[in-house]
Amino acid sequence: MLLAGLTGNIGSGKTTVSRLFGQLGVPVYHADVKGRQLLKQAAVRDRIGKLFGKDVLDGAGNVDRKKLASVVFSDDNMLHKLNAIIHPLVRDDFQRWTAGQRSVRYVIQEAAILFETGHAKHFDRIIVVAAPLNMRLDRVCKRDNVSPDDVLKRARHQMEEEVKIMRADYVITNDGETALTPQVHHIHRLLWTAAGD
Ligand code: ATP
Repeated sequence: MLLAGLTGNIGSGKTTVSRLFGQLGVPVYHADVKGRQLLKQAAVRDRIGKLFGKDVLDGAGNVDRKKLASVVFSDDNMLHKLNAIIHPLVRDDFQRWTAGQRSVRYVIQEAAILFETGHAKHFDRIIVVAAPLNMRLDRVCKRDNVSPDDVLKRARHQMEEEVKIMRADYVITNDGETALTPQVHHIHRLLWTAAGD
């Protein structure tokens, strides 16, 4: 089974594109969603409380993602520590998930950061979704009801899109003009064929 990673900078349209692959019957693992789910596990919650202090927990002792984000996105060291807790757990979970897939030629993992963490090397192919910065900002501000500054704060930790494009096996342009479906179908055919070799 071939492993494809699907990545791209904030608001580029990863989830939108992965939905199109899903419609073709391709199993898609959403690493960022899984990461958020893991924050709810007692053991993870406790480690985060110990590491970042009670300030990042709400009244019920659960991780307050907004508070956690404000800590980690203004301190690279803290972001690194958070990733060191979450990423190995996501990696193990992805391996289990992959092992449970039957009769599929390839699977996709959607993740905002694959190159930044060095995890891209664990994938056979990498798909990058690219979109102009102003469009990405606009889309995320509308979707999350946040300011462009908030989005830029998060984007600051991501590698330049041009670098990701250079490292990608396939690039999907999501500029609002180029249709997504034909691009997805084309890459699907290529991955399908490559996985059969
Ligand atoms: P994040 O990095 O925050 O996880 P993402 O890369 O997964 O974001 P999406 O959530 O797929 O990006 O897209 C961001 C927003 O832009 C969503 O509200 C989505 O519906 C919208 N969007 C994405 N692509 C298009 C498009 N081609 N046309 C119109 N809206 C779009």
